Amino acid sequence: MIKRTFYGAGVTLARGLVSILDGFGLFRFPRVVRVETTDICNANCSTCTREIMTRSMGTMDMGLYKKIVDECSLHRVRYIHLHNFGEPLLDKLLFERISYARQKGIDTKLFSNFSLLDEEMARRVVASGLGVIKASIDGDSKETFEGIRKGIKFDNVVENIDTLLKVRKELNSKTPLVGLVFVETEKNYSEREGFVRRWKGKVDSIHISSYHNWGGSLNGRRNPEERGMPCLRVWQTFTVLWNGDVALCCMDYDGKVLIGNVNRETISDIFNGEKLRGIRESHLRGEFGKIPICLKCEARR
Ligand code: SF4
Repeated sequence: MIKRTFYGAGVTLARGLVSILDGFGLFRFPRVVRVETTDICNANCSTCTREIMTRSMGTMDMGLYKKIVDECSLHRVRYIHLHNFGEPLLDKLLFERISYARQKGIDTKLFSNFSLLDEEMARRVVASGLGVIKASIDGDSKETFEGIRKGIKFDNVVENIDTLLKVRKELNSKTPLVGLVFVETEKNYSEREGFVRRWKGKVDSIHISSYHNWGGSLNGRRNPEERGMPCLRVWQTFTVLWNGDVALCCMDYDGKVLIGNVNRETISDIFNGEKLRGIRESHLRGEFGKIPICLKCEARR
């Protein structure tokens, strides 16, 4: 009872605060811009929605990519994320994209599954000036890892992380920073400590995160429908799919809630447009039923 009262007060406070900050114009341009350079992938992880994705596979056109980066540069975006669904190292234009962003004063980050990061690729990655590279390593044994990250070999990934760290040192480079994430599920919980022991002090960051249900599309553990917090992602993030469609957020794996297309509109117009403003209003009023993926989403607190 007391817990529920405190939670209710927290929700009211959060809604009021977000509304005030919005009124001050604090959310005119996204803080996090995610560019899906490709949604093609060489893995089929059990924690991913790939098997139920229905949208087409492809790679972003360089002209469209430059348009996005140019606008981000005008608005002094510090970092862009070069991933969403798909394995970024399969994109043949990746290094050209990193270089273009750097010319425009923007640093880059990406998530990779590390399966393609052999020594030659590691040298290209370090030389490219990529700022941060991360991977989800959801196990500390071959059996657990390969049961989750289907299609990827544990020993190969471990070797490739070591190779990247070795090459970075050899080339006397501070970048890319290397971060590892452990997405905790019932299947790998017992290997969490081993993961930490293996990587702590070796890579630049490790992070334990909890599994979420991809906007209600996969089985979850909590009941988000009872939660009322507005989700800050709709005020802060912008997710461009490879074909220019803008999805509600990074959970919207199939582009079910499209809020615009950057081939035809600017990021600014979409971010301040009627559709997203309507969604923000619904979040502030707690009317999550108007956006079904938000109603069921475990990422909402
Ligand atoms: S509640 Fe979930 S689906 Fe909705 S915007 Fe937030 S992260 Fe995305």
